This record gives sequence, structure tokens and C-alpha cells, in this order.
Amino acid sequence: MATMKLQVISPDAVVYEGDITMLVVRATSGTLGILPHHLPMIAGILPCAMRAKLEDESEELIAVAGGFMEVQRDKITVLASCAETPIMIDRHRAEQAYARAKERIDRFHHGFEPPKDIDIKRAELALERAIARLKVSNSK
Ligand code: ATP
Repeated sequence: MATMKLQVISPDAVVYEGDITMLVVRATSGTLGILPHHLPMIAGILPCAMRAKLEDESEELIAVAGGFMEVQRDKITVLASCAETPIMIDRHRAEQAYARAKERIDRFHHGFEPPKDIDIKRAELALERAIARLKVSNSK
């Protein structure tokens, strides 16, 4: 089976490096499934639980808070603002971040006028990051 290299880099570490057969990732243009020998491209990545399929059909999940990826025919490089593999994730912290973001979003949509102290886009992104971390943590 054809494989390609995946390297996921966060500002302070190489979070993942390995040979994979497919990468499923939430890009700004929609969810992409990338196979080996893909045409070269650069895409923006949204908060997601990225799924890397391995040669033995197993899957590795990696939480990505956002960033960019460069696709070459035999290699994908993900430059992430933050990225975590399952063992790196503090589940309790992710649950708290989820609850905090959910509470802000609910408060924003409740009542006649949205509260001025809530940046709704920021809260929505925080919720997406927390959901991605919880999904990845569940795959431990
Ligand atoms: P929080 O509100 O809990 O800080 P956040 O989504 O705002 O969550 P980020 O800004 O995405 O956090 O990440 C800041 C740093 O903390 C990054 O280095 C990231 O890898 C790490 N981090 C955030 N949440 C977790 C978690 N649940 N487990 C492990 N590391 C985390």
C-alpha cells in the first residue's frame, strides 16, 4: 500500500512523525481526505481531530487547534498553532474549556441583546478546540 510521511509541528515540538496511508483533516475549504501522490498544495486548517490512517488500518487521532498544511506527493507537513496526540491531552482541562465556551455561547444567544463582554467567534473557536481534544482523548 502506498504511504506518505506525516509531520505535525507545533511551535515548541514535533508532535507527530510517521508513515501514513491517508489523512483526513478539516481544512478551510471543507473536510479533505488526502492520499499519497496528491497534487502539491497549501491549505489552512481549522480546529479538528485530524485522522491519520496507518498501513495496518489503525488510526491515529491528533488534535489541531488550527494552522496550515503543505501537501507534497510523498509528504504532508502540518504547521499547527497547537497540536496534541491522545496521551498529551489533559481531559479534565478540555472538559472545563468545553463547559466555559458552551456557557459563553449560550449566554450570547440568550435574551434580546447579546452581552458586550462576549466575543462569540472566540468562544466558538474555543468550543471547537475543546471538542477536538475530547475526541482525540477518547481514542486513547
Ligand atoms: P484552555 O482554555 O484550557 O487554555 P485553549 O483551547 O484556550 O484551552 P489553547 O490556546 O488552544 O488552549 O492552547 C494553549 C496551550 O495549552 C497549547 O500549548 C496547548 O497544546 C495546551 N493545551 C490546551 N488545552 C489542553 C489540554 N486539554 N490538554 C493538554 N494541553 C492543552
